Amino acid sequence: MIFAGITKSSLLDYPGKIAIVLYTPGCNYNCYYCHNREIIENIDEFISNTEIMELLKKRVGLIDAVVVSGGEPTLHYDLIPFLKMVKAMGYLTKLDSNGSSPEIIKKCIEEKAVDFFAIDYKAPKSRYTEIARNNNTEVPVLETINLLKNTNQNFEVRTTVIPQLSLNDLIQMSKELPELPRYVLNPYHIPLRYLESDTLLVEDTPYSEAMIADFALNLKLYQPNLVLPF
Ligand code: SF4
Repeated sequence: MIFAGITKSSLLDYPGKIAIVLYTPGCNYNCYYCHNREIIENIDEFISNTEIMELLKKRVGLIDAVVVSGGEPTLHYDLIPFLKMVKAMGYLTKLDSNGSSPEIIKKCIEEKAVDFFAIDYKAPKSRYTEIARNNNTEVPVLETINLLKNTNQNFEVRTTVIPQLSLNDLIQMSKELPELPRYVLNPYHIPLRYLESDTLLVEDTPYSEAMIADFALNLKLYQPNLVLPF
């Protein structure tokens, strides 16, 4: 499996656990607020498998979990064997995904390769293509989320509250989702790298944490398990 980035120790990426985070290259979406633009575009340097394996072997017993993030990990054919190998080493596994491949998520469930899933829900159905910039978006994502819910997986859904989403959009999204075991509203931060053509969108004024906390009060009517990471 190829990786384009690594965080050797994180307290933020797996709820309640210390994790190594591995980032896969490439993505089938093109969100203008992407914080990983350097790995979704052309990449010429990858992390060697030797380096990854040495790190994983060295940290067994010291680190709880391995998170595979991206980019979009489900685009990689060898994702599931990799996750299973990591689990066999004794780590918990978490998969971060944009939810566009319910068939791969189904295989992860069937093969018990993932202990915790985190799926993005980026916009109301009517605006999904506009925000994710891919023509095949909201239907597979909702299919993924409903699959995780209906098979009682450990999972969370996350929304980045970009300036272009209104409170009405967020309420609509909360209604479109099934009742979630954990719904995280993440504040928007301007990414370091973005497309020049997206400057106006990206540099729009972010909502403050106080405003997002206010939105959360409204959304809790539909998603009682909503949490704020601040
Ligand atoms: S789905 Fe995630 S990795 Fe892909 S472009 Fe959007 S924010 Fe970036």
